[in-house]
Amino acid sequence: MDRTPLIAGNWKMYKTVKEAVELVEALLAHIGQPSDREVLVCPPFTALYPLSPLLAESPIALGAQDVFYESQGAYTGAISPLMLQDIGCSYVIVGHSERRQYFGDDDTLVNRKLHAALAHGLHPIMCVGESKPQRDAGQATAIVTAQVRAGLAEVTVEQMRSVVIAYEPIWAIGTGDTATPDDAQTMHAAIRQTLTELFDATTANGVRIQYGGSVKPDNVDELMAQPDIDGALVGGASLKAESFLRIIQFH
Ligand code: PEP
Repeated sequence: MDRTPLIAGNWKMYKTVKEAVELVEALLAHIGQPSDREVLVCPPFTALYPLSPLLAESPIALGAQDVFYESQGAYTGAISPLMLQDIGCSYVIVGHSERRQYFGDDDTLVNRKLHAALAHGLHPIMCVGESKPQRDAGQATAIVTAQVRAGLAEVTVEQMRSVVIAYEPIWAIGTGDTATPDDAQTMHAAIRQTLTELFDATTANGVRIQYGGSVKPDNVDELMAQPDIDGALVGGASLKAESFLRIIQFH
């Protein structure tokens, strides 16, 4: 099955509104009209609203880095899926390892966020990944497939068509230490096998599984050449137009 690759930039807690607008303008100036790949940026919450009109009708989609699971209420500091949908977001990242590490997002919370996103027509990008000690102990596949199963609890076949999974080994995020294309492919295949067990082969074959963890201009091509790698979730290298554009132009 054809899966349209999705190249996404996770800006994390970087960029003021002015800087965000400058980056998007630089991307739009050079991106052209890619037809065989999708492009997404996930700026911090404060930059979403000002970027929305710039990205409307453009080849770049807008997404958020996190979401709460209620649509409104007395939840100080939280941002709801309704609010994200209202300002033109189409994607939202859930379960990024930094959320899991610093904000206590566990699989149950990730699952609630994923359902909330789906209920509001947002495409969730659910991140999974093992730590270095877990990999060294030979537990990587067990940890990651368990995260996939727990995060996707109660998701239907129909809903699964809107879900993206990002495999992001924690030890590769922001470290310059990328998984080898072979290791990444092995994990992506294990994730797809898990999706076959949870749903069915047709559904599993339709799900995009991104790789994330120090994706750069000089390693994106060999990663994207792997049969089960359907895109990249890019942190550091998405903060500069030149490097993100080169990653978008993977071949
Ligand atoms: C990320 O933020 O999801 C990420 C993979 O970061 P980096 O590309 O900097 O490793």
